[in-house]
Amino acid sequence: MSKPITITKVRTILTSPERIPLVVVKIETSEPGLYGLGCATFTQRYLAVATAIDEYLAPFLVGRDVSQIEDIWQTCMTSAYWRNGPITNNAVSGIDMALWDIAGKAADKPVWQLLGEKSRDHLGAYASLQPEVGSFDAYITSMVKWAHSAKEMGFRAAKLETTFSGPYANMGIREDDEKMTEVIRAVRNAVGPDFTLMVDVQYAFDSVDRAIKTINTWQEFDLFFVETPLWVDDLEGLSKLVAATPIKIASGEWLSTRYEFSDLIKYGNVGVVQPDIGRVGGLSEARNVCNMAKANNKIVVPHLWKTGISVAAAAHLATVTPHMPFFEFLPPDLCESRLRKELVVDEVTMVDGKVTIPQRSGLGIELNRDALEMFKDAARKIRA
Ligand SMILES: [Mg+2]
Repeated sequence: MSKPITITKVRTILTSPERIPLVVVKIETSEPGLYGLGCATFTQRYLAVATAIDEYLAPFLVGRDVSQIEDIWQTCMTSAYWRNGPITNNAVSGIDMALWDIAGKAADKPVWQLLGEKSRDHLGAYASLQPEVGSFDAYITSMVKWAHSAKEMGFRAAKLETTFSGPYANMGIREDDEKMTEVIRAVRNAVGPDFTLMVDVQYAFDSVDRAIKTINTWQEFDLFFVETPLWVDDLEGLSKLVAATPIKIASGEWLSTRYEFSDLIKYGNVGVVQPDIGRVGGLSEARNVCNMAKANNKIVVPHLWKTGISVAAAAHLATVTPHMPFFEFLPPDLCESRLRKELVVDEVTMVDGKVTIPQRSGLGIELNRDALEMFKDAARKIRA
C-alpha cells in the first residue's frame, strides 16, 4: 500500500484589492507540487478567522492524511475551543474547500466526481446585479442597463439588489419601499417576461407586516424568489411571511452548519435555502445542507460570489445537486470587484447562456500570483 499523502503546511493569505481583506487558505502536502486552495467568506472578521486557522487549527492538521476530510472537519470543530459560531465555521470552510481541491487533484478528477453523481449537463446561473452609485435615479438607470447587458451576455436569470432602507441600503440611498417596486417594474419591462428575476432586499424590512405589505404587491412581476427580507434568526417572522405570500422566500447566507439550517427549514419554513460554502462549513457541510433541503422539499440557491475559488466550489456542488436550479455567478465582466476578477483563473464559463460543467482536476482553479502579491500588499496596508 502506498504511503498516505499528508498535510505539511496550512497557510492563510490575506488578500485585498479593495476595502476589506479576505482569507485564502492554502494547504500544502507531502506530495511535491500538490496543494489545495479554499477561502473563507467572513471578510468583516478576517483577522479572527486567520488567527483561528493559524494558531488553533493548523497545529492539529499538520501530519494528517489529506483523504480524511470528514474526520478532519470534526477535528477542527472540536479543537477550536469554540464549536460552531461564525469564526470557527469560516475557518473550517476554507480548510475543507482546500482539502476537496487536493482530493480532486490527487485523484485527477474534478471535485464534483468525488462529491456525488452528475445531475445535469450544464448549470443554471444568475447574474447578481448591484450597481454602485449614489442616487436613486442613477441606480435605476444602471440597473436597467446591467440587466440588458446580462441578457445580452446570454443570462436567462438575474437577481436585483433593491435595498434602499435598513443597514445595507445601497451607498446610503434612502427611499420608500415603493421605490423598490419601481426598480423591479423597470427591469421586468426591459427584459420581458421570458427571463427569471429574483430580488434581494438585504434585510430592508424592520417588521413582518411591512415585508408582507410590500412583497405582496410584487406578484405581478413573476419573481422567482425574494431574498433575506427579514433577519435570518427571526424564524417566527419568516414563517409568518411565508404563510402570507405566494412568492418564495430565500434565506440562509449567514448561517453555519446543518444545525442552523435545520432550524431555518423547520421553523422559518422558507422555500429556498442559501448556504454560503465559505461560511457554512465548506463543501462537506454545504452538501449536508443540500441533502437536508432535498429531504424537506426545499430548493438550494447558494450564496457565493467573492472569488473565483468560491464560484468554482459552487459550480462543483451544483453539478451534483439537481435541486439547485441556479447559483450566483458574477462573471468577471459584469462586476466591479478586482478580487472576483483577478485572484484566480477559473474555468467556470458561460456558453449560450449555460454554464459548463467543470472538467479540470480539483476545483479547477489557478492562483494568479501577480494579483496575489499585489492584493497581499494592499491587505498589509489595511492592517498597519
Ligand atoms: Mg444577498
